[in-house]
Amino acid sequence: MKGREISPNPRWPYSDRMRSHHDAEAPLRTLISERVNFVSNLKTIPDVYKRKSRRRAIYIHVPFCTRRCTFCNLRRFQMPPPSDYHKLVIKEIQTYSSYSYVKEGVYHAVYFGGGTPTTLKAADLRKILQSLKSNLTLSPDAELTIETTVSDLTEDKIAVFKDEGINRFSVGVQTFCDRGRRLLGRIGTGKYAAEKLASLLDEGFQNVGMDLIYNYPGQSEDELKEDLRVMDSLNIAGFSFYSLILLKGTPLHQMIKMGRCPPLGDLKQEWIFFEMILDYFLNRGFEILELSKLVQPGRDNYEYIRIRYENGDTLALGAGAGGRLGNMMYMNPLDIEAYRQQVSSATGLPMMGFKVDNRYDFIHNIIGKIEFGRLNWTDLGYLSEDSEHLRQFADKLAAIDLLQTDPSGFSLTRKGVFWGNNIAREFATILVKLRACR
Ligand code: SF4
Repeated sequence: MKGREISPNPRWPYSDRMRSHHDAEAPLRTLISERVNFVSNLKTIPDVYKRKSRRRAIYIHVPFCTRRCTFCNLRRFQMPPPSDYHKLVIKEIQTYSSYSYVKEGVYHAVYFGGGTPTTLKAADLRKILQSLKSNLTLSPDAELTIETTVSDLTEDKIAVFKDEGINRFSVGVQTFCDRGRRLLGRIGTGKYAAEKLASLLDEGFQNVGMDLIYNYPGQSEDELKEDLRVMDSLNIAGFSFYSLILLKGTPLHQMIKMGRCPPLGDLKQEWIFFEMILDYFLNRGFEILELSKLVQPGRDNYEYIRIRYENGDTLALGAGAGGRLGNMMYMNPLDIEAYRQQVSSATGLPMMGFKVDNRYDFIHNIIGKIEFGRLNWTDLGYLSEDSEHLRQFADKLAAIDLLQTDPSGFSLTRKGVFWGNNIAREFATILVKLRACR
């Protein structure tokens, strides 16, 4: 995905930059409509979904945070998890493991997301991990990720990570700049965050990554440079970098509206920051794993997200968790009482799911390839012989420096990475219209 250098002042190919893979996947929503009875469907998942080469993951949602970040509107609650939350998740694991389709699979990745999963007590986290291992089969090299925040990196939790084999960390740092941290509502100073990250690496964990937010209100280029310098000094495995998305209804949006802090930088500023991040880390041997992720080669392969784009299973557990089993997607209620009722119901499972078909899988997989920076025409399967329309579209994007085409397919340029979600969405829209998998 290494593109050639481009001008720091490009002409914009789109009026709005899409900043999330959810934007890229929006055209797929039209393909998920048929409701199915969850339990009946789970019992009759076709054999084609059971093949060993189809990998599986587990996602555990812990929608609780100690404090609300000012930019956040994610699905979470500002409170500690209820004292029985781990028991509800364990009950779900036990219920699912009584179904042969779930029990007989091998799981290659586990991802604790949120919210902040480390708001769970250390002992409760341990019980969930032990229940997963005793009820389901994890592959020997399974990637076990936990999202956490620096203030939760306590001795007792680190002991659980070690004992239970957590081997990938996504730490929500966002910035080391004290002014930025206060503005974004992050706990502790930048120095404290850096020390905590360093201490996690000192424990011997190799795959420690973090989130970086750029283009927050009033951010200067010097402030970003300092973030990059600190990240480099820590020798992290990789990081996700997100341009701040200002969402209505968030405290930050209100602060800007009331004139209590400066607005976000414009698109040109966002592009300059993006280029600074890429320049800094590509020159230090990092590579672009996907649109918003830079990694040190061999240190982070992010299997969990790969499995999702491969259309593997995601056994989703916890309030508000969304997942997929075989040919069915589903979502648990976010409301804790509704989730508790579901877990305690006669089946202990959701009432209904939504059927997905080959057409969804095919286009979702293509979106994943683009998000990871490269599409080969052979990825289009039988459509590759009939892909003139898509090739012409790729040539059009190449002419404005978003793609580099070659006889086998195309790669995103750096400018293409910046606009990657827009590009993936355009391809998805074309494919939905072509009714790709008839
Ligand atoms: S820690 Fe994450 S989920 Fe929680 S409020 Fe902050 S950004 Fe949102």
